Amino acid sequence: MGQNVRFRGVKATPKSLEKDLLDKARRLAEDPSLLLPKCEAQCRRCSFDKTLKKMEKVAKYSHDAEYLQDVANHGDQLVRAYAATISLAASGKIPYLTTKKGPYGDVSFAVRGKADSERLIGVQYFDDPDLRLLAFWEDARSDDLHLYSEDQRLMCTSDGPKAPRSYVDEMLNAAPYELAADHSCGHPEAPMALLVKWRSAEVTLSICSDCAGDVNLMHHLVSRIVARDPTDDFDVDVRYAPKCAADCGDCKLKRQFKMSGGLKDAYKKGTIDDATIIGRYLEERKADLRGSAGELFIVGAMCYGKDKEAFLKVIKGNEAELLAVSGLVRSKHLVVISASDQAGKIITDLWQENKRALLTFVASEPVFEKVLETVGNLTPPQMVQEARRAELAKGVVSKLPEYSARGPIATIADDLARAYKVEGKQAMVRLLEKNRPKEHRGKAVAYGFLKAVGEADSRTWQFTREEMDYGVYLADFAKALIDSEGDGYHEALSNLLTASGASEHLVRKA
Ligand SMILES: [Zn+2]
Ligand SMILES: [Zn+2]
Ligand SMILES: [Zn+2]
Repeated sequence: MGQNVRFRGVKATPKSLEKDLLDKARRLAEDPSLLLPKCEAQCRRCSFDKTLKKMEKVAKYSHDAEYLQDVANHGDQLVRAYAATISLAASGKIPYLTTKKGPYGDVSFAVRGKADSERLIGVQYFDDPDLRLLAFWEDARSDDLHLYSEDQRLMCTSDGPKAPRSYVDEMLNAAPYELAADHSCGHPEAPMALLVKWRSAEVTLSICSDCAGDVNLMHHLVSRIVARDPTDDFDVDVRYAPKCAADCGDCKLKRQFKMSGGLKDAYKKGTIDDATIIGRYLEERKADLRGSAGELFIVGAMCYGKDKEAFLKVIKGNEAELLAVSGLVRSKHLVVISASDQAGKIITDLWQENKRALLTFVASEPVFEKVLETVGNLTPPQMVQEARRAELAKGVVSKLPEYSARGPIATIADDLARAYKVEGKQAMVRLLEKNRPKEHRGKAVAYGFLKAVGEADSRTWQFTREEMDYGVYLADFAKALIDSEGDGYHEALSNLLTASGASEHLVRKA
């Protein structure tokens, strides 16, 4: 290889790796059976005995690198890879290695003769329980075999899947969950769980919805199986079994249900994880239960059947959320299946199809339509609360007196108090920033309001010492005004005017 020539993926061999590969090549030259699967019982279909005989013949020439390279160009692919690999020992050095990306990361191996790179990798890493499998995918497909790669050996069965006990134990020990003696996550009674049945092992693993994570348990169990379909020994299902309350009767939950083939396949292919298959199963189940007539209420692990009052008793949330959920549940035929007893979560679940129906129970139509129009970035429970707040604010205004004549100080105080009562503290502060009073009396009143609502400290620079001192005195009057309604409001406003020293006419509308 010239100095300026660079082959993609070809690199000089690190010394330790060269020594390691040469060592393995020598062991294979002495004993080709190290490479081949051991048959669990008498195999009817596999041809590994024949392959072994061919390799033993080749091994007789283990010191003839040229002959071995020639063998590596023709015939059985596995024998080619074997000859190529033991030729490394014959030549005694491996100056360059090729690197290939695979399912187990980057692998470096020596290319000799015309053998498939998967076969070469599988043979040169025959002692690696993952990489060795690459040598056998083709044979497993063509001869319909099941190969099981354990840490210390490789087993073969040819009459369908039959996992050796030792393979089963190894895979269960290395499972991504700590498994109890009953092969569950430790919560065998959980109402919702992933079930992976391993038929030939006579084992059913169960992982509850709380423990299930972003791993694919079945994918782990088959990761060292080579076969046409390594998952053909497994069934996957989800157990969904909330407890039915005493008077559930012939609750719809008791009907048979099977997950879709598409969902099962996605899990078997390893494209979705344990948490996802449980989540999607529940979606399918909900759709199925919604599709049938009648009502059903399930919260967490409890099924209340059609008993909506029993359901409403266990739901938790703020006043607005509870009004919305109970109103909707009592007025409509619904199927509610919720993992949580939080009303906010239930509102979110029901929102798409029922948003106006939910809002009807917390606000009048013009009020909630305005909320829907103006505050788009709120979550559904926040929407419900906002509609409720707007509705209550409307009620507050209707209880305040109206004035046909207000002086400048009364105008400042009345506007600030209304802003606070209808829209809250921040709205009051915004109004104040927009219409800052210019003379001393008005500024003292403004400071009094800020003091009354706890917003004065960050704004002292806008006021003189005198205005603030007077404002502190007026804060109690401002507070009284904010807290009052009806005749009391009129009285509080009059008191504030007197305290401020303003002599203004204040005339209520008749
Ligand atoms: Zn066999
Ligand atoms: Zn669990
Ligand atoms: Zn039930």
